[in-house]
Amino acid sequence: MISSIIEFAERWYPNVEVVSRTTEGPIHRCTYKDMGQRARKLASSLSTLGIKNGDRVGTLAWNGYRHLELYYGVSGSGAVLHTINPRLFAEQMAYVIDHAGDEVIFTDLTFVPLLEGLQAKLKKVKHIVIMTDREHMPDTTLNNVHCYEELLDAGSSDYQWPELDENAPSSMCYTSGTTGNPKGVVYSHRSTIIHALASSAPNALGLSGLDSILLVVPQFHVNAWGVSYAAPMNGCKLVLPGPAMDGKSIHELLEQEQCTLSLAVPTIWMMLTGYLRESDKTLPHMKRVVIGGSAVPEAMIRSFEQDYDVQVIHAWGMTETSPLGTVNFLMPRVQALDYEAQMATKIKQGKTIFGIDLRIVDDQNHVLPHDGKAFGKLQTRGHWVTSGYYGEDSALDADGWFDTGDVATIDSDGYMMITDRTKDVIKSGGEWISSIELENAAVGHPEITEAAVIAIAHPKWDERPLLIAVRNGNVEKDELLIYMSDLVAKWQLPEDILFVDELPHGATGKLNKLKLREDYSEYQFPDA
Ligand code: AMP
Repeated sequence: MISSIIEFAERWYPNVEVVSRTTEGPIHRCTYKDMGQRARKLASSLSTLGIKNGDRVGTLAWNGYRHLELYYGVSGSGAVLHTINPRLFAEQMAYVIDHAGDEVIFTDLTFVPLLEGLQAKLKKVKHIVIMTDREHMPDTTLNNVHCYEELLDAGSSDYQWPELDENAPSSMCYTSGTTGNPKGVVYSHRSTIIHALASSAPNALGLSGLDSILLVVPQFHVNAWGVSYAAPMNGCKLVLPGPAMDGKSIHELLEQEQCTLSLAVPTIWMMLTGYLRESDKTLPHMKRVVIGGSAVPEAMIRSFEQDYDVQVIHAWGMTETSPLGTVNFLMPRVQALDYEAQMATKIKQGKTIFGIDLRIVDDQNHVLPHDGKAFGKLQTRGHWVTSGYYGEDSALDADGWFDTGDVATIDSDGYMMITDRTKDVIKSGGEWISSIELENAAVGHPEITEAAVIAIAHPKWDERPLLIAVRNGNVEKDELLIYMSDLVAKWQLPEDILFVDELPHGATGKLNKLKLREDYSEYQFPDA
């Protein structure tokens, strides 16, 4: 049961701190002992809002101590915590709240105006709780509004966590829905605990009571990669950045709280390393940085390791896999190589952890070899892989494999490397070109900040790659092509390169290639 995690931390790590940058402004400090008590109070007062076993409770919140209390109070009581991604479009947000059947929504102050705009569409929502104290309660047109701290004050810390079925649902999260409506993934107490145990292990995130973790990956994105559970399970100090995700604010917390480990998507680390360079700052306490959600550019690995002496842990996963699937650590055979030779392995997404199995298959579903060359559809199965989407039929094949939608290779040491999304590969003259490989090659150039590659129809080759890039200097197309020709085969080079001021991103910070494909649907190559 998820309640057993907070019970454990409360008893055995009572003085370890949870530090939060609040929406109201100041830094808030509490301990796992406080957190345990407040989570019980919250759980006991949910019944006054009519919440019963299995009911869904939504959250619209940044990373903070109240959000963490909800993780334990809601799931621990037997209800289901639905963490809503506030970056979804308004229509999609109304859709997921309705589809999940959320009866109560807990919201940070930031999202009150957003909910006011959506209120008329939220027919099933009976109460809204604003996550603040009486003093900061806003004027609002929302109906049935409660103040979080008052709700908690009315609760009882003598509350006993109920015994629940380990297979009962505990939380849910919707995929970002780049095609069609977002889809719901439901986690159970059992899958959550096993995932947290497995992700703590040395071959995975290697968590221990020595760590002070800055959790930048949002709590509304796959339970902050499960670290909302794994951190108290290991007695780690937890630092939660609230709404401030810019380089300066992140660096301030890393310094003040002496963080040893932090987790986020590459975009966040681009902002941080940009800030470090501009302001001539370093990272003296940081030992490890976990990067996932999209491929980590080689330049980022080098910068963390060589400029700041921070080890990069590249990880892969998805909402459907709780999310951890693979983690990159260097086996002795690779460690023995020199730094340059190690890089070929470091850029891979890593090795699977016990509890998850992977395979790659071709279009006819034939299993492909682990030779580092053959690439095919990546499939997975395991204890924390979803069996299907909420309200839909099973998403697994007859043998229990889940198709990830990624295309990958696996080498003879078991390192998996994503070469693309199935939808994004460029099919050029019968060969496949990896959009990710081209993007990585382009951002290796010091004057390229971000790059996206999409397929454009071509009369001779079916499809050819178009590179769309954001630059921070004067690099021109021909110079970039010469630079990239050292990194990829000539026939894979982009057919054309366009420079733009910015690229579109989706609700989880990833490049929105669907939007790019729409924007450039009329584009034609100059010589085609
Ligand atoms: P989400 O469910 O939003 O977390 O998205 C999951 C997808 O993100 C995966 O199926 C991959 O396509 C992509 N992804 C996650 N981690 C990585 C990574 N380390 N490298 C490349 N792609 C990744």
